[in-house]
Amino acid sequence: MPVTAQVAKKWELFRGLYESLVIKHIVDINQAGKRMELMFARQEIETPSGLMATSVTASIFKGSGFRASLPKLYTSPSETIFCPDPNQSLYCQLLFGLIQREEVVMIGSFFASTVLRAIKFLENHWQELCYDIKTGRLSHQITDSRCRNAASLVMKPNPEQADLIENICNCKSWDGIIRKLWPKARYIAGICTGVMRQYTAELEFYSGGLPLVSSLYASSEAFCGINIEPLCKPSDVSYTFLPNMAYFEFLPVKNERDESIEMKSNNEDTELVDLVNVKPDQCYELVVTNSTGLYRYKVGDVLMVSGFHNNAPQFQFVERKSVVLSVDMEKTSETDLFKAVTEAKALLDPLGFILTEYTSYADTSSVPGHYVLFWELKEKEDKHCKELDPKIMVECCFRMEESLHYTYKIYRKRNIIAALEIRVVKQGSFEALMEYCVSKGTSLSQYKKPSCIKSEEALKILDSRVIGKYFSPKSPL
Ligand code: AMP
Repeated sequence: MPVTAQVAKKWELFRGLYESLVIKHIVDINQAGKRMELMFARQEIETPSGLMATSVTASIFKGSGFRASLPKLYTSPSETIFCPDPNQSLYCQLLFGLIQREEVVMIGSFFASTVLRAIKFLENHWQELCYDIKTGRLSHQITDSRCRNAASLVMKPNPEQADLIENICNCKSWDGIIRKLWPKARYIAGICTGVMRQYTAELEFYSGGLPLVSSLYASSEAFCGINIEPLCKPSDVSYTFLPNMAYFEFLPVKNERDESIEMKSNNEDTELVDLVNVKPDQCYELVVTNSTGLYRYKVGDVLMVSGFHNNAPQFQFVERKSVVLSVDMEKTSETDLFKAVTEAKALLDPLGFILTEYTSYADTSSVPGHYVLFWELKEKEDKHCKELDPKIMVECCFRMEESLHYTYKIYRKRNIIAALEIRVVKQGSFEALMEYCVSKGTSLSQYKKPSCIKSEEALKILDSRVIGKYFSPKSPL
């Protein structure tokens, strides 16, 4: 996507708008303290035209206005944001955030999954980080010279702070850990709608009651809408569209939730609707025309009109259009999948396990094909002593099938689809998946775990880490 100075100005305007809403509803972030915002900039590559290419987030971080505000408003120095190794970058950003913990008013990242990843990384590295804070010396594992230089400017031995952090991290349960580690934090920032919904429950566990703020809906194609009620529940978040960001049009989409066997009609010939003409409760696919060359580009997101702010339409994110599981004529959307997983994972709760990550895959290597769910589980209290009960796991498979749509159930009954399977993978498997995607060029800041696996390599990564396989025992109808 070409980026011009005009587009860069729009980014700044957009950021200013959603931040002013946080200031209005929660705290004056520019005055109250610092933001521990986890940011990762991918390295630029030179295109044959001589123009540089990078991710949107990286170009925002490179902007002169943003860089100038870093030392005063953020805990992460730019050297850590631009560090080419994502793990070294995260280690250092956590270190800087912990050193300045008394000043931190916000913990966040672009997507909620990154905040969660940081907390998990902290679970594995807090002893090392405390040691660094105690001695005032950066771990030898950090080899990036720019990060080392940045650290040497601020680090000095602080055994008291290190002991405090050690005591907090050493406790049995990490329930509410974010609030304990950053006592002045007022909110957690990170998009938690769409594919990120699955992370909200776990983030709420770590957050200690801090509000989870999903401020914006944006894509590389266009910055679209902001959440004018930042304190609302993640499930109620709507984005008010800003008509000055791009020219927005909408392709009506038949509501997938209606439980008929019929396939959705091909809507190539359906008329596009302008922003001013969208209707409440109707679902649309977003189409963008922007000032840098995209003409009527289908972003691939399905949105539902949830209301209006004055005359500006507000949308709830429904799903990525392309994400569906299908082994025959049925179509299972991201929303269907999320609903079924939510129902099934409730069975794990009394056992002391939580579902931390999931993805899916339509296995058609045998006939009939079947749905495979990869689940990564974690004990609520990290004792590593609990065994998974196979009976419950089988029940989870069945509960998922029961919660899927009517078409799925009919197909299951007629043996057009075989029994749903849950493959439990060992801890860290989804991190390995992410590392693989990052190694293939995905920006860490913009990484979204796929709801459905399509690539052979990604499948191999998960399959090689399976520790248990469970199948639904009977048809749901
Ligand atoms: P990217 O292509 O990396 O710029 O990612 C843009 C995509 O991320 C969008 O098209 C959406 O699918 C997803 N996304 C961005 N913001 C949100 C949001 N607030 N809620 C749900 N999904 C989002």
